[in-house]
Order: sequence, then C-alpha cells, then structure tokens
Amino acid sequence: MNEKMQTPVAVTRSSLPPLEEYVEMLKPLWESAWLTNMGDYHETFKQQLKEYLETPRLELFVNGHMALELVLQAMELEGEVLTTPFTFASTTHAIVRNGLEPVFCDINPVDYTLDAEALEERITGRTTAIVPVHVYGNICDVEKIQAIADRHHLKVIYDAAHTFGERLDGKGIAQLGDASMFSFHATKVFNSIEGGAISYRDERLGKRLYQLKNFGIMGSESVEYVGANGKMNEFQAAMGICNLRHVDKEIQKRKERAMRYREHLSGVDGIRLCPENPRVRSNYAYMPVVFDGYRRDRDEIFEELARHRIYARKYFYPCVNHYACYRDRFDERETPVAAKISRQVLTLPLYADLPLETVDGICEIILGVS
Ligand SMILES: *Cc1c(COP(=O)(O)O)cnc(C)c1O
Repeated sequence: MNEKMQTPVAVTRSSLPPLEEYVEMLKPLWESAWLTNMGDYHETFKQQLKEYLETPRLELFVNGHMALELVLQAMELEGEVLTTPFTFASTTHAIVRNGLEPVFCDINPVDYTLDAEALEERITGRTTAIVPVHVYGNICDVEKIQAIADRHHLKVIYDAAHTFGERLDGKGIAQLGDASMFSFHATKVFNSIEGGAISYRDERLGKRLYQLKNFGIMGSESVEYVGANGKMNEFQAAMGICNLRHVDKEIQKRKERAMRYREHLSGVDGIRLCPENPRVRSNYAYMPVVFDGYRRDRDEIFEELARHRIYARKYFYPCVNHYACYRDRFDERETPVAAKISRQVLTLPLYADLPLETVDGICEIILGVS
C-alpha cells in the first residue's frame, strides 16, 4: 500500500509568500538600514494585524513565548495561576519563569480545552489569574471561564497560539479575556518566521508591554523595569505583511484537506475527531485524531505511518505535568483526562499544499490496519 508516496510527508510545512514579494519588501531596508527597533514595517504590520484580528490594542513581539512571558510580567501577577497541562511547553514555562505557581486543572474530553467545571474548586486565596489554551484552535468555554474570573477577580490571559484569525459568533477572538497571545512561528497557520503578539483590553497595559520588550527603558537616561529583549525585527514584520496577504487562501486550502480527513475518518469505531463548532470560524490549524479502543493504539498507528514515511506528531505528549523538569512538583494523575488523551492523540499532516491524494493515502493506511 502507498507505494505512490515516495517523498516523506511531514506534519506541517511553513507557508511562504512568492519569493519576489518578499525580495521587493527588502529593498527599502537596504536603503534605510533600519533593521529593528520598531521600524516602518513593524508599524504597518501592527496596524494590519489589528484590523485582521479585530482588536483595537495589540503589541508585537519577537515570538509568542516572549509575548506571553512579558504580558504576565506586565500584569504584575503574584501567587497561583490556573492553567492546563495539555499544551505546549511555552504556556507553563511562561508562568514559572515569572515566579508564579502553575496550578493544573484537567481538560474536558471533547475538545481538550480546560474543563471549566473543574476550575473553581482549584481556586485558593492565592489565585490571581487563569491561563487557558485554545487547543488545536478549539475555543475554550469562554463564557464560563469569564464568569468564574469575574466572581473571583482573576485575570484571564488566553494562549491563542493556535487560533490566529478565528472568530466566535462572527467576532474575532482577540478581544476575549484581559489578553490573548498569538504566535507567528514558522509552523503555525500564519507566520512571520518567528513572531508573536499580545492583544489586550486595558489601554494602560500597552505602554508597559512596549517598555518591557525593550529592556524596561523609559527614556534615554531612564530604565524603570527589569525588561527583556522582545522586539520583532523588520525582516519578521516584512514576512508577516507578505503572508497576511495570502492567509485567507491558505486557510481555505487547509479546510479542504481537513474536510477530506473527516470524510474518511468520521464515524469510524474507536476513532474520535473534535466536533465542529458551528459558532466558530475555524483556521484548521491541526488535525487531531484520538484513538480510543481502535484496532491499534496511537503509538502503533504512529509507527505504521512512519513506516510509510508519514510523520504525524504526538501533540501534546507528554503532558506538561509529566515533563522531567516538572515531575518533582506535579503529578499527571491529578489531571487524568489530559494524561489519557496525551497517550491517545495524534495530529496528522495538515498544510495548505498537502496533496488531497496524500490525505487519502494516510487515511487508507490508518483504516487498513488489522
Ligand atoms: C507555538 C506555541 C507557543 C509559543 O509560540 P512561539 O511563537 O513558538 O514562541 C505557545 N503556546 C502554544 C500552545 C503554541 O502552540
């Protein structure tokens, strides 16, 4: 089976604009020799993103992780932060590197976002914020989370790295909570090579974010905060501007591929797909498939695909509370749903230019196992 697929298939492939478009963007940089520190492209890109993401307030960063670290610092949080172990390392690291204590809540078994029902019982007198993740582009139960946050006076900072351009009930998701972090890493739906942004609610936060990403410098002779270097450079911004022109087309192509997977895999015994949420305009960032009681388990399917040189990803595995660096402090048995899903889930290859026949071939391999 699948002899036709000679070339390896990776789980993703970075979106690139036509080369000439990017080269054209570089010429002014050679003229001005202004390469970083909030140049013209930085400003243009920021304005375009505000429009695209439908948010009045946004700050750019060198990457998504630095954005998240700095927004947590800007909010001057203390104590405990409720979050999910079913995420990328960045979410938890950003909390810990701010001297805050992550408190892991379990996820729901349907879309793998924070189980809002389980949140409240983990709140203590020291809790100051919630950092939920819109996993795979599935929007969290934002109404319930906001109600809990309001009741207990907690900040809500969404890790929206997976949800670039998504809309909930026809509205951009960047305005949810107190802030949302977007990542423009090369592997995401939309990239600026590396890059990130914070969309935020409180106007006063903007100035602080700007200062913190530039070493806490307030003026030529005044440094008032222990900031970092989180600035997005002009080459990143130029790539972002180019890719933004094409992102809607890219998402449309992702959708066709995701739908093709669904045609083959939905309704199969032992295979579970995330439900489509009619309230959400999806960006089709990932194609997660959960193997629960299927003929073969997740690891066997992973190996079988790899034998055909198709490289799916165990994403997220392991859970953050099972990482070597956190194992002494946390126990993944406290979040049994997350622990279980992390052992059952596989994200299948998905990107705009993935041939539809390859999708058919991948499904054929999965459905052909005995
Ligand atoms: C990619 C990602 C990040 C980090 O973004 P970078 O731009 O790579 O620093 C954080 N959280 C999640 C869920 C991600 O997928």
